[in-house]
Amino acid sequence: MATRRFNICSSAVVLAVALAVPAAAPAGDSVATRTPDLRNRPHNKGLARFKKTVARQAAKFPTAYFLEASKRTRAVALTFDDGPDPKLTPRLLAVLAKHKVKATFFLVGSRAKRYPKLVKAIHAAGHAIGGHGYQHVSLKARNQYAAWWHIRATNNVLQRILGVRPAFYRPPYGAVSDRQVAFFAKRGVKTINWSVDSFDWDPKRNAVERITGEVLKHAHDGAIILLHSGSWRGNTAKALPTLIAELRKRGHGFETIPQLLGIPAIKRVK
Ligand SMILES: [Zn+2]
Repeated sequence: MATRRFNICSSAVVLAVALAVPAAAPAGDSVATRTPDLRNRPHNKGLARFKKTVARQAAKFPTAYFLEASKRTRAVALTFDDGPDPKLTPRLLAVLAKHKVKATFFLVGSRAKRYPKLVKAIHAAGHAIGGHGYQHVSLKARNQYAAWWHIRATNNVLQRILGVRPAFYRPPYGAVSDRQVAFFAKRGVKTINWSVDSFDWDPKRNAVERITGEVLKHAHDGAIILLHSGSWRGNTAKALPTLIAELRKRGHGFETIPQLLGIPAIKRVK
């Protein structure tokens, strides 16, 4: 039923009518109308498996694990993983400032420690910050305590620099076990993956036009879009102005992850 309703809503006629209606959703209509999914078409078996896993986890943990907005909204969230990086992060910040877009940066703890000024610059510009592992390693196969160590160590660094601890996290490679999701949620940290992958991380698919093409092909209301702020992602910064302009032209606004999901940005420190 939910899927059917989404299909009807995606037709051009109804969409045109919907656009004329005020943005605020009526009471009781704040949940998503379809099962959250990774929208990209997988081009290998690993990605096909990943797509299934994330859809299953989003259905299993509707308040602790997110691929997209859980409310009706035309807004999308741009998210940048793997920073901070002394070359690329300032370039991304400059483009975002020029276009008046607030985004979300998922920072690697050891890199945040090394570049505290960049962490402060991201925060001062009004972007949201979450952790992305203390080192960039897959933690899915580890027990929940070992994975939690990465979140805590990263949040300790961020708290020393910014005075606040993030309340949300993105696992490196999007890889996280069900047990870890539940364990983190109990400790006040929500897990954030994505619904649209730009493939800017893939050297075979990250020409500027391919990054914009892939995102624009799959972008949707409430999308969480995966991009990167690691050192060799120069094309991400080049693709960003077109990406922002095109998404705006289609009527999408930009929100940070806490805004898009209606979740706290930071944890209260006891
Ligand atoms: Zn990453």
